[in-house]
Amino acid sequence: MAKASIAAPTAAPTADFQTSGVFDELGMERDPNNLYLQVIDSVLQAADILELPHHLKLILAQPKNEVMVHFPVRMNDGDYRLFKGYRVQHNNVLGPYKGGVRFHPDVHLDDVKALAALMTMKCSLVRVPFGGAKGGCKVDPRAIDHDELMRVSRRFITAISNIIGPDTDIPAPDVGTNAQVMAWFADTYTNTAGSYSRHDAMRVVTGKPLEMGGSLGREKATGQGVVDVLAEMLPGMGLPIEGARVSILGYGNVGSWTGRLIEEKGARVVAVMDHTGAIRNDEGIDAVLLAEHVAETGGVAGFGTAHGRTKTGRHTQADADAVTAEEFYRTPVDVFVPAALEQMIDVEKAGWLECKVVAEAANAPTTPQGERLLQARGVEVLPAILCNAGGVTVSYLEWVQNKQSVSWDLERVDTTLNKHMVLAARRTLLARHRYECDMRTAAYIAALENIGKVYSLRGIFP
Ligand code: GLU
Repeated sequence: MAKASIAAPTAAPTADFQTSGVFDELGMERDPNNLYLQVIDSVLQAADILELPHHLKLILAQPKNEVMVHFPVRMNDGDYRLFKGYRVQHNNVLGPYKGGVRFHPDVHLDDVKALAALMTMKCSLVRVPFGGAKGGCKVDPRAIDHDELMRVSRRFITAISNIIGPDTDIPAPDVGTNAQVMAWFADTYTNTAGSYSRHDAMRVVTGKPLEMGGSLGREKATGQGVVDVLAEMLPGMGLPIEGARVSILGYGNVGSWTGRLIEEKGARVVAVMDHTGAIRNDEGIDAVLLAEHVAETGGVAGFGTAHGRTKTGRHTQADADAVTAEEFYRTPVDVFVPAALEQMIDVEKAGWLECKVVAEAANAPTTPQGERLLQARGVEVLPAILCNAGGVTVSYLEWVQNKQSVSWDLERVDTTLNKHMVLAARRTLLARHRYECDMRTAAYIAALENIGKVYSLRGIFP
């Protein structure tokens, strides 16, 4: 398999933590499968390379606040169900805490902590003046109806309303939540939180519907950011984006926008998999038609049964073959885009992949062991805090527009987003060359340089 042209140095995270001195000092357990410990271990390795002061490593190793809530909601059958929710605020040295809220049946505190820490790094890397947070509610949004979802959303935001605020902590969409849920969050907060005007209180949430102060370009922003990063970085690896072959895991907001926008750049989406199945067409799958199919049916399975093949039985871009998960991963591509949940690319999947670059559109989709194998196989892994930072960047632009009571046109949003993404990609490359490390460590170094400077300027109160 061809190797990306930038040589991939070796410093990958290991299962036996390298920064366990800090873990021991803080009395933290050492479970190698714990996502939070994996993330913090990688961050601390980068902090070691940068020789950040020891007290900063201690600060970053634990979130500032972890809040767990339980609240009852009346379901349509008249019964009450008790729901569990979390909001973790990792760090706010750069600005208000910022990060999405996920609705998923498998939300756990340590995963939310990991995702909050990633938000701290992400905001710093793209230089938006926010800290890092994440929220979650243990609920399957597909298993309850519209009114039940509204009541869960309103009760969740009420349960955490004393720790969030337009200048304190600003939630946004994540897995399982969308602009409608943000509308319910914003409406509930503005009706119940006293210290802001009703209008200004809307800044408490980003990713709102356009009609309620949302920003043009926010819905596609994460996918747009993935494509901006790839357009910036692929040529340096000897891979023009035009004509690149791409496979995508997950075809929700992030996966489907990445597919549609990368197709506009002349790349070909040749395989897609989600929770309903996997499809492949070496001629390329029409990413727009596939997005329509997913919106209608809930998943990629069955794509192309209504339209598609020519009379001679050959594929058009409007159909595809159903394939197994293994066949999906083994499809030869230039770029593989994991855009689903955490930890899906384990050693087995890493062994199956036939790609040159992994662009992490989801948060933490690669296990440390999976990443080590990918690196050994010469695959370049572009880390999530760089690749998927487009969402929070346009969240910041939405917040700025709300603060000034203006709305920008799409061109201004896209151009500003692109500048943040391109500069973040260049910062990462620079750190990689300067410190001769892998891309993930380089992205953490570029993020930590900023955080370290701010801490040294501000000092520790008192
Ligand atoms: N949930 C998204 C992320 O993980 C967006 C966060 C935001 O816009 O605040 O980056």
